[in-house]
Amino acid sequence: MHTLFVSHPDCATHDTGPGHPESARRLQALSAALDQAQPALQGRVTRVDARHASEDELELVHSRGHLEKVQAAVRAAAHSQGLLHLDPDTVVSPGSWQAALAACGTVLTAVEALLDGSARNAFCAARPPGHHATRDRAMGFCLFNNVAVAARHAQQRGLQRVLIVDWDVHHGNGTEAIFYADPDVYYLSMHQSPHYPGTGQRGRRGHDQGEGRNLNLPVPPGLPAERYISQLLSGLELALSDFGPDIVFVSSGFDAALGDPLAGLTLTPADYHRLTRHVMEVAASQCENRVVSVLEGGYALELLSGCALAHIRALADLDLC
Ligand SMILES: [Zn+2]
Repeated sequence: MHTLFVSHPDCATHDTGPGHPESARRLQALSAALDQAQPALQGRVTRVDARHASEDELELVHSRGHLEKVQAAVRAAAHSQGLLHLDPDTVVSPGSWQAALAACGTVLTAVEALLDGSARNAFCAARPPGHHATRDRAMGFCLFNNVAVAARHAQQRGLQRVLIVDWDVHHGNGTEAIFYADPDVYYLSMHQSPHYPGTGQRGRRGHDQGEGRNLNLPVPPGLPAERYISQLLSGLELALSDFGPDIVFVSSGFDAALGDPLAGLTLTPADYHRLTRHVMEVAASQCENRVVSVLEGGYALELLSGCALAHIRALADLDLC
């Protein structure tokens, strides 16, 4: 069975303005790199276009008020034919609403393909990214929390327990907050600290019914890749010691790569390949190989493409090169 590469042309219609690191060029670079790599992927990676998410689906996670706030901002941007800032980092343009529905839709499409048996696993080339978006607030380049919405969708479709592994270099404060008291969603984040957004302390282990279902692994800038990997694998082991997932999502930022302009970690494409293989082993033993990986950060175009391709090769059961 195939690995899916899920995207949608509307993801490009979210315009963040000149000089913004989270630009449509990220997906263009990734898509071009995938085209170029196709012969070497031996027919194991299939591109599919996503459907859009519906507003009802966004409301599985987000408040009606948040949807209306983003819609109003997009309308104002369209009215002025310009961009509108929701915060210093987070921008909307006239095309942002369609892009946000498409971005979230990539992950819903991937979940559905895994559940109907038409794919083994999937990588979602989504933008705007999602893991900083909370129930009520857009921030950190994120409008809606794509992975969180898809986790709820998977639960509606009969999968109860969800593991989210977030290796974006920033802490996914939105995902943590959404599931903090939820016993059925385990959130594991590895992130540089101190760094944006300032959350993700080790002692934050979940609340109420969700106690023990949140695991933050803050690491200092410059940490050698070997130690990064061993700490992440220990975290995975701890998570799995009392949690058996029915599906694994990866919030797959590639901004922990050596050379990313927004952070100071040291991973290489080979490290992403290795980490992916470990996540696949978990999924093979726990949940019939169900892995849905979703693009979050990663801001140096060539580096992003190289790391994402290594990750996709691992998902497709191919060696690094
Ligand atoms: Zn990030």
